[in-house]
Amino acid sequence: MSMLFGVASASARGHGMTSQRARDRLVATLRAERITDPRVLDVIRTTPRHLFIDEALAARAYENTALPIGLGQTISQPWVVARMTELLIERGVPGRVLEVGTGSGYQAAVLAQLVGTVYTVERIEELLRKTRRLFRAMKFGNIRTRHDDGNIGWPDEAPFDAVVLTAAGESVPRALCEQLADGGVLVAPLGPAGNQRLTRFRREGDEWAREEFEAVSFVPLLGGLG
Ligand code: SAH
Repeated sequence: MSMLFGVASASARGHGMTSQRARDRLVATLRAERITDPRVLDVIRTTPRHLFIDEALAARAYENTALPIGLGQTISQPWVVARMTELLIERGVPGRVLEVGTGSGYQAAVLAQLVGTVYTVERIEELLRKTRRLFRAMKFGNIRTRHDDGNIGWPDEAPFDAVVLTAAGESVPRALCEQLADGGVLVAPLGPAGNQRLTRFRREGDEWAREEFEAVSFVPLLGGLG
C-alpha cells in the first residue's frame, strides 16, 4: 500500500502537518484510550487522514477528533474508527464488508487495508463524488462505492461477512440484518441522539447475540437520497 502516500499534497507536506510524528502521536493517544489491536494501530499509523479532509483543516488531521467535511457531515473521530474496526475484525478478518455512510472515505480506507473488499454506500452524491476521486487517486482496488439510501443495503452484493454503520439510528434497518451472512458481525452506533452506544451483533442462524460498548456521538442515519 505504499502507493497511498504518493498523493500527499505538497503544501500540506511543506507545513509538516502530515508528518509521521503526528501520526505516531495519534497512535499513542489511541493506545492510551484502550485501542489494543496492533493491526488496527498499524493501519492508522500509515493512513494519511489529512487527504480525507479539506486542506484548510489539514493541520488538525491527526488530532483525535471528528472534523467537518461539508454538507453537514463529519469525518469520524480516529478513536471511533479504530474501535469500530477492532470490533469488526476481533474474531476473524471478514472478506466482504458493507459500510453504510461513506462520508470522507476514511473508515472505508482503514477497512480496505485489513479486509477483502469494502462495499460502501452514501446518500449524498456530492460527497461521494469527491470521495470516489480520492479512492482512485490512492489506488484502492478493493473499495466499491454506491450512491443510494444505505437503509436498503446493497442487495445485489449480499451477503456480507460484516456490516458497519457510520451513522446512528435507534435500530438496525431490517435489510441490513438480512444481508449479513450467517456467522457475520454487524457494528453500529445505536440509540437516540445524546445517548448512542457502539453495539455489536453476531448472527448465528436465526440467533442474534448483542453486546454494547462505549458511548459515542454520530450524525443521524437518514432516509432517502441527499
Ligand atoms: N464513514 C465516514 C463517516 C461519515 S459521517 C467517514 O469515515 O468519514 C456519516 C455519513 O453517513 C454521512 O456522509 C451521511 O451522509 C451518511 N448517511 C447518513 N444516512 C445515510 C443513509 N441512509 N445511507 C447512506 N449514507 C448515509
